[in-house]
Amino acid sequence: MTILENQSLKPYNTFHIDESATFFGTIHTEKDLLELLNHPIAQTEPISFIGGGSNILLTQKKEGLVVYNSIKGISIVEENDDDIIVQFMAGESWHDCVIWAVDRGYGGIENLSLIPGTIGAAPIQNIGAYGVEIKDVFVSCETLHLSTKTKKTFWLDECQFGYRDSIFKRNLKDQYFILSVRLKFSKHPKCSIEYGDIQKIIEQEYNHEVTIKNVSNAVIQIRSSKLPDPAVIGNAGSFFKNPVVEISIYESLAITYPSMPHFDAPNGIKIPAAWLIEQCGWKGYRNGDFGVHERQALVLVNYAGASGQELLGLSTDIITSVQQRFNILLEREVNIW
Ligand code: FAD
Ligand code: NAP
Repeated sequence: MTILENQSLKPYNTFHIDESATFFGTIHTEKDLLELLNHPIAQTEPISFIGGGSNILLTQKKEGLVVYNSIKGISIVEENDDDIIVQFMAGESWHDCVIWAVDRGYGGIENLSLIPGTIGAAPIQNIGAYGVEIKDVFVSCETLHLSTKTKKTFWLDECQFGYRDSIFKRNLKDQYFILSVRLKFSKHPKCSIEYGDIQKIIEQEYNHEVTIKNVSNAVIQIRSSKLPDPAVIGNAGSFFKNPVVEISIYESLAITYPSMPHFDAPNGIKIPAAWLIEQCGWKGYRNGDFGVHERQALVLVNYAGASGQELLGLSTDIITSVQQRFNILLEREVNIW
């Protein structure tokens, strides 16, 4: 097992921030992971994991051992005439797995097409888009407890999935490495097309034919037109979560802002953070190499050589201005390193 020193993490994060890790190792197998965890460096240094690096902002040198996950593999666990349970190893690309399922006619995650990152990170924030979350198809994940080096399977009801949230972001933060994830797909899928322009695109461009392939293609088309490609402009997708406020708070805001978009949420009313940020004048803001994307106010961008501190500072300024104007506290979705 090779451990590199002072490795730049620039190629490993979609913001393209040039900060380094004190120590850096790549794992291709579970055996590699155990070997790394037993290495003398891992006995004294903090350990962090990186997959696609699409949900982190590096703001300083990352102290300790950063482990880049490249554990691959896809296997069928069980199937019948109606459903199939598939195990994906943590280092598989999420989007490739979506396409794997879609190509075989297995439905359930087509709305989650084109989300960057790895399978192993997907349960951590219960990834979601276009009305679907990983929790909707999640069966279990196999994990390794980092301090005891024992394996534990977490079942759906143990993960405490919420809006961009799970037990792995809260009580069990940084305690487990997710080795693999099992998802259950339907062989007779009922597509979910109510969200955004999916239905319109299927009607106009796919002759009203609602198939999981067409839903996946429609989502890819919408996302490609609205979101910056991290390969071209550094970003980590939505920087903030959409706030959910009490109904009474929404009602009093709606008097002043009758056109404010809003959606029912399990514990209140969800207000799109992008709208709040846009109202505060941030959409398209640019200061040298960093700014707010011109088509999507939720996405902070690194045009070239911005530092993580600059982007973090921008996020703080946005939080402050939204709070001052709407008295709503935005919460960062991206993990700050
Ligand atoms: P990383 O950024 O590498 O890691 C994120 C966190 O998870 C870190 O704390 C890391 O230590 C930890 N981690 C990673 N792998 C493991 C593991 N195997 N075990 C334990 N901990 C681990 N998210 C959505 O929910 N919906 C979207 O629609 C969406 N769209 C996006 C669009 C763009 C253009 C971008 C850039 C991002 C988007 N995201 C979206 C955010 C991001 O893609 C997801 O959160 C994704 O799941 C992150 O995966 P990753 O492998 O890149 O995680
Ligand atoms: P959008 O369609 O312009 O909608 C703006 C916001 O309104 C979304 O954030 C969404 O909340 C909410 N919304 C819209 N229609 C809704 C409905 N029918 N029911 C409930 N809520 C609704 O959003 P977008 O920016 O283009 O993104 C589309 C989808 O991709 C969203 O689900 C978004 O979360 C996801 N996405 C996530 C990231 C990320 O990094 N996390 C990045 C890009 C896109 P929700 O976010 O709760 O769905």
